[in-house]
Amino acid sequence: SRKPIIAGNWKMNKTAAEAREFIEAVKNQVPANELVDSVVGAPNLFVEGMTKGTKDSELKVAAQNCYFEDEGAYTGETSPKALGALGVDYVIIGHSERRDYFHETDEEVNKKAHAIFRNDMLPIICCGESLETYEAGKAEEFVGGQIKAALKDLSADQVASLVLAYEPIWAIGTGKSATKDDAQKMCAHIRSVVAGEFSQDVADKVRIQYGGSVKPENIADYMACPDVDGALVGGASLKVDSFLALLEAV
Ligand code: 13P
Repeated sequence: SRKPIIAGNWKMNKTAAEAREFIEAVKNQVPANELVDSVVGAPNLFVEGMTKGTKDSELKVAAQNCYFEDEGAYTGETSPKALGALGVDYVIIGHSERRDYFHETDEEVNKKAHAIFRNDMLPIICCGESLETYEAGKAEEFVGGQIKAALKDLSADQVASLVLAYEPIWAIGTGKSATKDDAQKMCAHIRSVVAGEFSQDVADKVRIQYGGSVKPENIADYMACPDVDGALVGGASLKVDSFLALLEAV
């Protein structure tokens, strides 16, 4: 059976001092690693402090993006090699905000996934359709395409170990979360795409999160879905109390 994974995505919020304060407040209250992987996705700027601050804690650290080359003349980019050397556990890639505002393509997401594995971290690969695509009944086809492109040329072992996050764009930051039936249906579809591209064994192992207006009040609904293995949470991960409540709901 798959271990649940709850990941906060702070997006571009908090200062280093606020991040430190958050870590100090939660680090001794995080549930045991055998029960759930608890992850905080901090802005890359203070990932180093986060890895130090969580050393004696069950809390894991994610970066929110990285480049797909390890080093070189790429002004302003974040090196996956440098993140790996800091002891970062996960890197969130392909978030719809990065796709929409920063024009990240499926091909880049795939190159980043390879770079993350090369540097001993695990990707959390986001996918999800717009309201227009959802209303046109094309969500499964669209998301399936994102998944196939993102996983291109990864090994079966790599895919079995990574995390996929289904985040319908119309549910992000809107308070309009997907119904649990919508979330279950799409996560099952994503798993079937993985089975088709790799194998049923790989599909049975890969963890799939739902994201989009998840809060302590609704997380149990999603966790009850057989194909939903966790959540990627924006707004509700910013406050100590609600972040801990999300972890405890698992
Ligand atoms: P909200 O939880 O704020 O809707 O954000 C979801 C998200 O985009 C997490 O990556």
